[in-house]
Amino acid sequence: MPLSFPSLTAMRRSAVALIAVVASATAIPAPASAEPPTPTIVDTARGAGNVVSFTFDDGPNPPDTLRLLQVLRRHQVRAVFCLWGDHVRQYPEVVRRIAADGHVLCNHSMRHDDLTTKTAEEIRTDLLDTNAAIREAVPYASIPYFRAPYGAWGESPQIAAELRMQPLGWRMDIADWEPPGANALVQRLRDRITPGAVVLMHDGGGDRSQTVQAVNRIIPELRGQQYRFTLPERRG
Ligand SMILES: [Zn+2]
Repeated sequence: MPLSFPSLTAMRRSAVALIAVVASATAIPAPASAEPPTPTIVDTARGAGNVVSFTFDDGPNPPDTLRLLQVLRRHQVRAVFCLWGDHVRQYPEVVRRIAADGHVLCNHSMRHDDLTTKTAEEIRTDLLDTNAAIREAVPYASIPYFRAPYGAWGESPQIAAELRMQPLGWRMDIADWEPPGANALVQRLRDRITPGAVVLMHDGGGDRSQTVQAVNRIIPELRGQQYRFTLPERRG
């Protein structure tokens, strides 16, 4: 039995149809959220009232990042992941999982250097290299945010904005780099979360299993207080 191929005419027809779809998609006017970012460092969650944004730094870091993804999926919370370029190169498949789950990506520099010691040109190269590493893992990934390591911004906010990334700060940091126990982390989240806060936690840079446990426990509590989980503001 001969193999059946679509006729050349049919293939041309579907190619023309595809081009028409792409052309009409690009003709749609850009929504307001597509306005360019500003150099202002945002630390506020979108929306009014009891809103909070969860952000996770220094990954990808299997297995903690993968466990965290399970927790966020179970509770249907969308978060921001600030990715360390060297780790992206090491674990591209974890970055793909983060993106596939609908989370939002943030550039956290290539080597987690203190950017206050860098020239503008060095910072630009670093940020571009990091985005390239992320897009090697996830082609055409949207990377709407940038966060400077240690919050040591130097000249990076202006450069990030030029590269169409909004500098992303935080209003509350649970200081989980020296894990004090999941109970203590839950208590810090309880005590310190305020409406509109962008919260900084870590899924990378060490054993982050306590952070993952704390996130799993605090989400239902916050929902019980009518909190909604939103993304950080897109513009400063
Ligand atoms: Zn960091």
